Amino acid sequence: MKNNHFIFSGHDTIELANKFGTPLYVMSEDIIRKNANVIVDSFKKQGIDFEVVYAGKALLNTAICCIIKDLGLGLDVVSGGELYTAKKASFPMDKIFFHGNNKSIEELIMAIELGVGRIVIDNEYELELLNRLSIERKKKSKVLFRITPGVEAHTHKYIQTGQEDSKFGIPIGEAEEIILKAYKMDGISVMGLHCHIGSQILEDRPYKVVSDIMMGLIKRINEKHRIKIHELNLGGGFGINYSEEKSLINMDEMINKISTLVKRVSKENNLGIPKIIIEPGRYIVGNAGITLYEIGAIKNIPGIRKYVSINGGMTDNPRIALYGAKYNAYLANKMNQNNKEIVSIAGRCCESGDMLIWDISLPHCEAGDILAVLNTGAYNYSMSSNYNRIPRPPMILLMEDRAEVIIEGETLDDIVRNDKIPSWLNN
Ligand SMILES: *Cc1c(COP(=O)(O)O)cnc(C)c1O
Repeated sequence: MKNNHFIFSGHDTIELANKFGTPLYVMSEDIIRKNANVIVDSFKKQGIDFEVVYAGKALLNTAICCIIKDLGLGLDVVSGGELYTAKKASFPMDKIFFHGNNKSIEELIMAIELGVGRIVIDNEYELELLNRLSIERKKKSKVLFRITPGVEAHTHKYIQTGQEDSKFGIPIGEAEEIILKAYKMDGISVMGLHCHIGSQILEDRPYKVVSDIMMGLIKRINEKHRIKIHELNLGGGFGINYSEEKSLINMDEMINKISTLVKRVSKENNLGIPKIIIEPGRYIVGNAGITLYEIGAIKNIPGIRKYVSINGGMTDNPRIALYGAKYNAYLANKMNQNNKEIVSIAGRCCESGDMLIWDISLPHCEAGDILAVLNTGAYNYSMSSNYNRIPRPPMILLMEDRAEVIIEGETLDDIVRNDKIPSWLNN
């Protein structure tokens, strides 16, 4: 009876849609754990010091923090809001890495006072500021330096951050000078180097190239300045499979290649092997999430296109409008039907560009059908908006046979919560 329903992580998605309503973000804790363990297990085989740090910007709320904490991973934050979320979830502060190219004074003070594990210095201005704020508080802040190694990763151009022409990081040519300067500062403790070469990277070669470049820098810093670099953070960006893009990255092989290289260069140059840190975001949560929508209006323009509209869109998943991302989807209540037709899935926002999927083959769609869009765990909720004053959908978490809300859906009252009518209009 149920076998024409899409089962996700052991759950009947139609039952979930009926119980929790649509649109609905669905996350699977089982899949998150599985993804994280693939990385951790790969590192364990290498016999080196390592840390896996989840990049919270992919998806963060207090429940996700609890899973990451339970997995024993570190956590990347990029704002006071993400840091506050971690604090609310009692995430261990010494396992937090604080990123950002323009952290505010208030955010830096918050990080110092909470005892955040590593602050990733993005530029010289921030170094001076953090040194001063740390000294004023009689603290020494442990830092990594974000370096732009000039590696161009093969990925969509809008989401590249690794070239020298980047708002992020210290150009590699200036790195030694800044690190030497930091080494002499009373409020700063130099722990290591960081780089991040992009996102949704589909092959492991750029990581090998960048590891080599960064080890070269570690070697120079050690030889010329006698400064020991304890940690090498190679960032995130490991791609996943969407509808057309297929990642060729095999985590186990990639970690083996990187570790082998780092060990070899360390040994050849009598450096201690630095702790290797990576920061996966999408890899951990991307395929652990789906979004369920209900189909409403259907408009057939004979000989041209059939538009199938859903009750969500660019407000809950802006990646298509932003990056031209391509997703796959199932008609979740008609899994076994073969009468396929080519349709295009339209969002409900007042933008012609609000299209979720162009030209997908689905069973015959009717109003009331449930559409499940796959791989929406990363950069969907975290990039969502209230454009058109549309409330954000709720998010549920699946764990074995359980399902609970982890983010309440917004209400219409939430939409007007911060609105104020000025005195001269309020009569
Ligand atoms: C975005 C980002 C990540 C995570 O990227 P994914 O593509 O989600 O793995 C990691 N580190 C830094 C510094 C980032 O900016």
